[in-house]
Amino acid sequence: MTVVRGVLGSRASTVRDFLASGRTSFSFEFFAPKTPAGERHLWTAIRELEPLHPSFVSVTYGAGGSNRKGTIGVTERIAADTTLTPIGHLTAVNHSVSELRQVIGSYAGAGVHNVLALRGDPPGDPRGTWVAHPQGLRYAEDLVRLVRSLGDFCVGVAAFPDLHPRSPDLDTDARHLVGKLAAGADYAITQFFFDADAYFRLVERVRRLGCEAPIIPGVMPVTNVAQIERMAQLSGAAFPADLAERLHEVADDPVAVRAIGVAVATDLCEKLLAGGAPGIHFITLNRSTATREVFRALSG
Ligand code: FAD
Repeated sequence: MTVVRGVLGSRASTVRDFLASGRTSFSFEFFAPKTPAGERHLWTAIRELEPLHPSFVSVTYGAGGSNRKGTIGVTERIAADTTLTPIGHLTAVNHSVSELRQVIGSYAGAGVHNVLALRGDPPGDPRGTWVAHPQGLRYAEDLVRLVRSLGDFCVGVAAFPDLHPRSPDLDTDARHLVGKLAAGADYAITQFFFDADAYFRLVERVRRLGCEAPIIPGVMPVTNVAQIERMAQLSGAAFPADLAERLHEVADDPVAVRAIGVAVATDLCEKLLAGGAPGIHFITLNRSTATREVFRALSG
């Protein structure tokens, strides 16, 4: 199976190729909307971010495997109708191996050869008991092996600077991350976080285990206080008390919240890039303004 999308501008056909080039990667994450208004927001954001020539963009897989058609549809449309290189996220939740093969086949059929292989969380309560599908897979590592066995895919995996909520400790978490990379993943993207040192410590733990794979930090510019607090709680990301206090003081003023969010994210990105991070993966929540402001500040 060949990689379909060619090199366009500063972009490469796979994330692996892009990272191997040594250039700094800037990328954007979107989610598949469920309403016509959400669809308009998404495509406005995509069109506004496209001129920044990201190395790739990614589309999340609906929690619990929900809205899978939406995810595949948006990813395929990005591949067909834009100049962008899409990554399709895929989770093992609620899927038999044969269903997973079908989704991977749909991506390949649309020329999408970059896949982010994830276990996902239980539907409903993300902190609830994880139960594998009876004909499915147990860990992301197994999904990495499945995707790699089906063709010439470039595969990414998730990493957690602040510890995955189900992991007993940081060293165990790092060992499992290295296991996913050893199983055939090319790189990792992290959960969002706020402390650059947490990222550098994660990279150090992984390097100590003899793994040199690139780890791209995920950064989410804060634009809504309640939303970020909820997301941090669910994902296990540590939300610094001083930042929470600053944001709560201006919580009723969206412009002031965004200004703080942009300043904090810019500072974090500067520290990460200065410390050798291979790039930044922006979690956009399908809005472009804050991400463009951080990007502009970094470019300036
Ligand atoms: P795994 O790597 O399988 O890890 C799950 C837990 O099991 C961890 O505690 C890990 O330490 C442990 N573990 C791993 N391997 C082993 C092993 N071999 N033996 C014993 N224990 C093991 N969720 C979605 O629903 N849709 C998305 O699109 C999505 N995108 C994401 C993108 C990024 C960049 C990140 C960081 C997360 C994303 N998530 C998404 C959330 C993710 O699905 C959850 O955090 C999930 O709980 C963990 O997924 P994982 O792939 O890291 O799982």
